[in-house]
Formats: sequence, C-alpha cells, structure tokens
Amino acid sequence: MSDRKNENWEQRDLEYIWHPAAQMKDYEELPPMVIARARGAWLYDVHGKKYLDIISSWWCNLFGHCNPEINQAVKEQIDKLEHVIFANFSNEAAIELAEALARIVPKGLKKFHFNDNGSAAVEAALKLCFQYHLQTGHPERQRFMCLSEGYHGETIGALSVGSLDLYARMYQPMMMDNIHVEAPDCFRCPYGKTRENCQCECFCKAEEAFAKHAKETAAIIVEPLLQGSAGMRIYPPLYLQKLRRLCDETGVLLIADEIATGFGRTGRMFACDHAAISPDIMTISKGLTGGYLPMSVTVTTQAIYDAFYADYSEGKAFVHSHTYAGNPLACAAALAVQHIFRTRPIFENAAVNAKWLTQRMTEEILSHSNVGEVRHIGLIHAFELVADKKTKQPFDAKKRLGYEVYRHALAHGLLLRPIGDVLYFNPPLNITQPELDTAIRLARTALDEVLPTA
Ligand code: PMP
Repeated sequence: MSDRKNENWEQRDLEYIWHPAAQMKDYEELPPMVIARARGAWLYDVHGKKYLDIISSWWCNLFGHCNPEINQAVKEQIDKLEHVIFANFSNEAAIELAEALARIVPKGLKKFHFNDNGSAAVEAALKLCFQYHLQTGHPERQRFMCLSEGYHGETIGALSVGSLDLYARMYQPMMMDNIHVEAPDCFRCPYGKTRENCQCECFCKAEEAFAKHAKETAAIIVEPLLQGSAGMRIYPPLYLQKLRRLCDETGVLLIADEIATGFGRTGRMFACDHAAISPDIMTISKGLTGGYLPMSVTVTTQAIYDAFYADYSEGKAFVHSHTYAGNPLACAAALAVQHIFRTRPIFENAAVNAKWLTQRMTEEILSHSNVGEVRHIGLIHAFELVADKKTKQPFDAKKRLGYEVYRHALAHGLLLRPIGDVLYFNPPLNITQPELDTAIRLARTALDEVLPTA
C-alpha cells in the first residue's frame, strides 16, 4: 500500500462509501479520517497524524489495537481453518470458546447460540423468547417490554425494542408493538433522589407495566446498569434485582443485553454481576473478540434450551442461522481475550485507573461551568454538557455542541465521538494513566474552545 500513500484517500472514500450513522453531507466539511495502522490506544491516519481512540472504536476494542497476543492467535488460526459451516459441523475454536465462556457467564446460563453481530444476537434472543413460550404452553405471550431510552441494535426487531428517538420513529410502521417502560434517569431524577440514596422509586413504572401487560409479555430486554446509546445513563444494581424478582413472579423472561457492558467494561466481567443476578438470556458481542472480528452470542439457560429439544417431527427446533456463525477466526480472537483475562491483572489495574480517572475528571472536566455531571462505571466516564449547571437545563440540540467538541478534540488528536451533548471515555481496559491524562487534557482544551468559560 505504501506506494499509494499520497493518493487522495478521503476523496476516493466519499466517491463510493456510505458511512454508518452519519449525514454524509457533514463529510463535505469534515472528511473521514482514513486510518492506516493502529497500536494500543492509538490510531495513525494515512498522513501520519495520530489519534487517541478513547472510545475503543465504538466500545469494542478491549485490549488495544493490534494487540500482539490476539494478533498471534488469529494468525495461527488462519493457517488452520478460516471458516466452516456451523450447521452439522463445528470447529475446535468454537468449542473451546463455549467452554471458556461457560466458566464466566452468570450462573445458570449454559447454552451458546453463535451469531455474527450484536443486532443479530438480539433478534435471536427475541425469537427464542417468543418460541419458548409458544412451546411451553403460553402462546398468548407475544409482546416485548423494553426501557424507554434503550438501544439494542439497528435491525427492525432490535430497533423496535429501542427508544423511539428521532431516528427510529420514522420506521415505527415497520416495527413490533412493544411496551416501553420509562427508564431510570439518575441525572435528572424525577423523584429528587441520587444514585447513592435511592430505592429505585422509578421502578414503579416497571411495576405498572407488568401489572397491565405481564400476561401477554414474552420477555423484557434491558441494557444492565448502563444505557450506553442513551448517553451513558447509569442506574443502580437494585433496579436489576427488583426486575429479576418481578420477572420471576410473572413468568416474563429477562434478557440482559450485555453487548456494550460485557467483558469488564463496568468493572466486573458482566454488568449483571454487580447485582448478582442471572438473566434468562444474555447477548454478548463487541469486547467478546477484543473488538477484532464481528461475532456475537445469545446465551441461554438450560430450561430455554430444553423447550426446543424434541424429536424432529415435533417442529420445535430453533431454525435460525447466520452464515458466519461460529467463525473460527473470531473464536480464536475471543479465546485470546479470555486468555488475557485469565493471565493478567486486567480488573485490578482497570480498577486503580478508574478511581484515578474519576478524581482527575472531577478536577478537570466537572469544573467546567457547562458540564453538568461526570458519571462513571468501570473505566467508562461520561460528561454531559448543560446550558445551566444548577438547573441541568440542556443546550438547544440544534447547536450540536457535542459534535463541535468532537471536532475540536479531533483536531487535537483525540477521538471523542459524542452522543448528542454527552461525551465519554470508554477506553481499552489496559490503557495507561499517562494516556488517560492526555485524553483529559485534550478534552478540556476542546471544551474550552467550544464553550469558553467567563
Ligand atoms: N446492543 C447494545 C447494548 C449495543 O450497544 C449495540 C451496539 N452499540 C448493539 C446492541 C448492536 O450491536 P451491533 O452494532 O453489533 O449490531
């Protein structure tokens, strides 16, 4: 590639490529950064400029880019077996991975259904719940509940258990008729509580929905503890404990979507571990392969599995497939990730850095007069821009201030992709304190440029 280094990559990109989640016209002013190589938390573009990837490339990169151990595992696998059909056939890497995952998932989860991206894992989870009830004498349970600000992916089923925001609303006629329960909002708590002193008073919204709809409901899907795409909204483990209890009482299945929260992001292996609860189904992806290759798994209990296990003629099988299910390269990467967790003090180091980061962000970021809150769980630290710190009055969304901060941060070499007016760090778990310090300094510089303090 090096002989083509000086060719106009940005222009060639825009000639043919339609980028995800973007108004393509924005690229007229800010063309895509074309990345040539990466190492650790750093990306290097075709012009040699470097960027600190503080968002783990959409929350998936777990142990740095081009991690030598994961690279080696993928290289070894590719010379053995790149892919094989997963129906009727299997492969060593997938079997070893299922065994490794079985040791770390919340108690009671036992069976691993492989898919190839997060949304696909959610679709499989929804279909499994629907079919489970159909095959266990409850064909009336056909609906789904979800939390109002949730996000579970972009395919139609996954989208329809997400929040009906500006972008999803237009597809409403295509969607399932789900029950949207008002989600916890700890930053602007309607009950005047804080995360530290509340009893999850907001759970009454779930109780109301269950009282009305539980009998017709197959499952409720939640992002445990952290509603990522809603702006890194964090809620207490007690909410999950109450929800588990309510699901048990009413026969509604609980789906924990750990696609963003899984694999150490919240300081424990899974967010459910903070609440010491087990869901009936868990979806995992992103960090699963260290952010290397697209793969997801829908994990279920034995009880769910058993409801599908019968003679062929009974027609109870889960007839759902994806071409790249169980892909050996992705499994090899995921096995290397598990090996790193087992052999390195990942959680211990991340916990030390998380504590330090909270303090430094409080000093450097929360001190800004337009930052309303720095909220955090594990190494994830988010800050929300507000027009008025006391009243938490948001800025007019049309000003796109989060996007402006992102642009300024980029110019300084920090990749800080916004969610509206929420900006966040969600770095690889092995990021160093000096790197975090650089990120804080650059974020503060960008903030001051966009919102100069008096
Ligand atoms: N669920 C959650 C909680 C997510 O954060 C995401 C992706 N951000 C998805 C599902 C969808 O995953 P994918 O983008 O791989 O389809």
